[in-house]
Amino acid sequence: MQIAQNSVVAFHYTLTNDEGEVLDSSEGREPLTYLHGAGNIIPGLEKELEGRDVGEKLVVKVSPEEGYGEVQEQLMQEVPRDAFQGVESVEPGMQFQAQTQGGPLMVTVKKVEGDTVVVDGNHPLAGQKLNFDVEIANVREASEEEVEHGHVHGEDGAEH
Ligand code: ZN
Repeated sequence: MQIAQNSVVAFHYTLTNDEGEVLDSSEGREPLTYLHGAGNIIPGLEKELEGRDVGEKLVVKVSPEEGYGEVQEQLMQEVPRDAFQGVESVEPGMQFQAQTQGGPLMVTVKKVEGDTVVVDGNHPLAGQKLNFDVEIANVREASEEEVEHGHVHGEDGAEH
């Protein structure tokens, strides 16, 4: 069955950057499952999976604009150390959920300078060219309920 609008797709992937460094992989885990055409995965990848079939292997190159976006300078912010109450030690690389005008946002601590902490609200993969090695493990039709909700149900999806 070919991947089309409202297919539930399971695929294995290995994600590398242009230096060949592995950033993420489903190896040794269950394949990633998503509802096709619902914007569950990044646009550059979803587009290339259209029309593919079970067992197909492909390499997909995704630019930042079709991936996690460009790095936005305005998402880098200095916040007072006092904003991290209850956190004993604030270290670079730590992630926190910040409340912003646009809703909750995951931020990563970039550096700590005295009483000031520089946080970055960009996605960790923003600004990067991504290379996905993909193998399609399964394709099935979505249930009406899944289409309505815009995501996959069952053991590899939302349970509710
Ligand atoms: Zn649901």
